[in-house]
Amino acid sequence: MRVWALPLALVALVSCVTQSVPRRQQARVQIVPSRPVVVDPVALAKRLRSMQHGWPASRKFDCARLKCVALTFDDGPGEHTGRLLDMLRQRDVRATFFVIGQMVAADKGGRTVRRIVDDGHEIGNHSWSHPPLAELPHEALKKELKHTENIVQRLTGVRMRVMRPPYGSTDDDVAAETRREGLAQILWNVDTLDWQDRVATTVAKRAGAAKPGSIVLLHDIHRSTVDAVPAMLDTLGRKGYTFVTVSELYGKTPAPGRTYTAR
Ligand SMILES: [Zn+2]
Repeated sequence: MRVWALPLALVALVSCVTQSVPRRQQARVQIVPSRPVVVDPVALAKRLRSMQHGWPASRKFDCARLKCVALTFDDGPGEHTGRLLDMLRQRDVRATFFVIGQMVAADKGGRTVRRIVDDGHEIGNHSWSHPPLAELPHEALKKELKHTENIVQRLTGVRMRVMRPPYGSTDDDVAAETRREGLAQILWNVDTLDWQDRVATTVAKRAGAAKPGSIVLLHDIHRSTVDAVPAMLDTLGRKGYTFVTVSELYGKTPAPGRTYTAR
């Protein structure tokens, strides 16, 4: 179905549902005046598109020729994520968010994760409670991935294709389980150490040292990291970098189970 047809299909769907409401229920609605249901066709079309297989549809960047960099934000969504999303939207920049299941569960009915998806960013699995996965018994490891996968899919409709092991802790068992779950393991080659040094200028400077094809590790739960983003984007933008998601960096969905640190 073409994207422009989605709003029409939705209107048709909504009217079908309305017509199928039993007569008695309709009468009750008439007695108690209720607000009309407002359907935002654009938002719903976006949501449906993001539920399709293969989302996010990669914009076509040839990162073999362009200077590409993938900014990645871990451990959220948190209280500063909304502000970060505003900044990225304002500059039409896309990034990758590796979310923690527990944080998603605490996120006001999934408002922030839905916005991450709606704004076209890539979303990845960063476990449920942030343990070092290589140290876990197999069943616990499975649960860490599965619970986060389930909540993100329930709230956004998106089936994640990438994951980041907390602390970069991985082994053969983690590789096998991520392969089974259809998740590529995404590490990094630029560490801003933003969790340690909560100084925006320091974080921006370290991110600015990225090379073509770099994956930059950041954490959107820290105010100083979000404060560093405008300078980071300015510095890298001046050097001619294109900001891409992890999947865009490789030009395809990375292979499940495999480990990636940079292009
Ligand atoms: Zn983390």
